[in-house]
Parts: sequence; C-alpha cells; structure tokens
Amino acid sequence: MPTLAESIVWTDHPVTSSLAYGTVDVRIGTVGEGGPVGLLVASVHGDEGPWGTLAINRLLADVRLEELTGTLRVVPVAHPLATEADARQTHLDLLDLNGSFPGDPAGSHTQRLAAVLAEHAVDGADVVLDVHGGGSWNINCFTYRFPGSEHVAEWMGTPVIMDGPDRASSLTGHARAQGAVAVWIEMGGRGEFEEDRAATVTRGLRRALGKAGVLTEADLPDEPGSLGVGKVPLSTSRPGIYRPLLREAALGTVVAEGTVIGELLDPLSSEVVETFRAPFPRTVLALLRPTLARIEAPGQVVALVAEIV
Ligand SMILES: [Zn+2]
Repeated sequence: MPTLAESIVWTDHPVTSSLAYGTVDVRIGTVGEGGPVGLLVASVHGDEGPWGTLAINRLLADVRLEELTGTLRVVPVAHPLATEADARQTHLDLLDLNGSFPGDPAGSHTQRLAAVLAEHAVDGADVVLDVHGGGSWNINCFTYRFPGSEHVAEWMGTPVIMDGPDRASSLTGHARAQGAVAVWIEMGGRGEFEEDRAATVTRGLRRALGKAGVLTEADLPDEPGSLGVGKVPLSTSRPGIYRPLLREAALGTVVAEGTVIGELLDPLSSEVVETFRAPFPRTVLALLRPTLARIEAPGQVVALVAEIV
C-alpha cells in the first residue's frame, strides 16, 4: 500500500512576483476525496522553516494511503519568496502573509498569495493546522487555540497551549470565518533538540488528523500540554547584547517567580543593564532566545511566558 507522499497530487499556482522572476509558484498537494477535509500548512512566515515543512513531509512519508478516511491538503512552503530569504515577509511589499487574508487577486504579491491560499487551500477545509515555529532568533513550543478549537490544541501535544490572537486576517482567522476548526502551532527553532521538536509536531499532526476523522485514529498516547494564561512577551528596553541564563533545555518548563531568564548587556562595556525575570509564581517558558544575541533596537522579544494556574 503506497504512502500519502507517493499518492499526493501536486498543483503549482503561479503568483505574480517581481520583474526578474515574473511569477513564483506556490505548491498545494491533495490526496483523498470526501470529508472531512484537513489542511496542513507550513512556512507562512519565511523565517520559521524548515522544521514545520520537515514535520509535514515526514507525516506524508509515514502514513499509508489506507489510513486516509477523508481528504488531506498540504502546503509545505506557503510563502516561497520569504522562505528563500529566511525573512518573515518578502521585500516586495513587506506585508505579513498571516495578516493578509482573505487576500486580493489584484493586489501586491503577498495579497495575491493569500488569495491563492484562501481559494485553493483554506476554503472548504474542516480542520486547519497551521505550523509555525521558532526560526532564526528563537525556539518555541506551544499551540495557539481559539474558541472551538481547544480540543484540537490538546491533540497537538505541544508542551504549552495558549489562547491565540483572534485576527480575521490571519490564516487561522480566515479559516475559522469559513467554518473550519483551526489551531496555530508554534514549535521549532535551531538547537540540539530541534529534531525532538519536529518529531513532536509530526506526532501531533498525526494524532489531530486521526481524532478529526481525516485519518484513522493513531495509536499514540495523549500528551496533554500545560495551559498558559495571561501570556506576556519580555522585551528589551534598549539595544545591547542579550545573554540567556535559561537556554534550550529550559524551553517548555515551569520556573518560579523571580527566576532570571536572561540579561541585557551594554554593547560597549558588557555591564548588565536589564534583567529579565519570570513574572508569575508558576511561569511557563513558551519561547526563548536560547543563545547570545545582538539586540539591535529597543522592543526586541527575548522570551514569551505565561502563567500556569
Ligand atoms: Zn509565524
């Protein structure tokens, strides 16, 4: 019996781009027929690959066609130009694809790309799993849930679950407006444990698609994450050098109030000018900058934390 990877049918959708290229193709794969329809998307932000793409491709390679009970759509690289540049957006218009839905077929590149994804990937989907995660400057390990998708967030099995930003212009917001159940996964980033994070995402996608009825139910144990409330980004008040005290091994763990997460050093003297501490009695670390980092301006996030109640 073939795998999903061997059975999927790919369609390339040209999106008008730049003078040099003319168009850039975004590739959407479909396998199966009938409902429910599941959609997997990765690299909506081009600086958050390749972990989500890898997780999706491993799922396609692992799952046999006989396990498919509905339709699965996949977009392994949703924003090819931004991914090529390892940037959040493309320089062509600097628009956030995750704030450009439902898009505009006569608009700028990102607006046209959003319109293609809305029409050919999102519309008609019943369950949407949008995989973001970490990237060039951070590591993270959570799923954003929305009203109605709390159960799907638990199926994903990421260490942390938090309430997501409820924006209609995001991919998940557009999907929800079309009647889908959607979550936004943030799990990835460089480091020694990057393969473990990608494996958690693959497992979560398999479990969620099984419980949603797109695939047969997987024989996987539950991995209930901790619900973090009142999420707060810790940001620098000035430029400098960020020195983490809590690094990759601390990601997803719970620390006591006052625990030092990292320090900002003066760029000239290396004196400590700002100290970042856990703000809650039980603070969960959902996103970290795990290595020494240049902080080029005020307002740079060094950690995203929430309270475990
Ligand atoms: Zn993202």
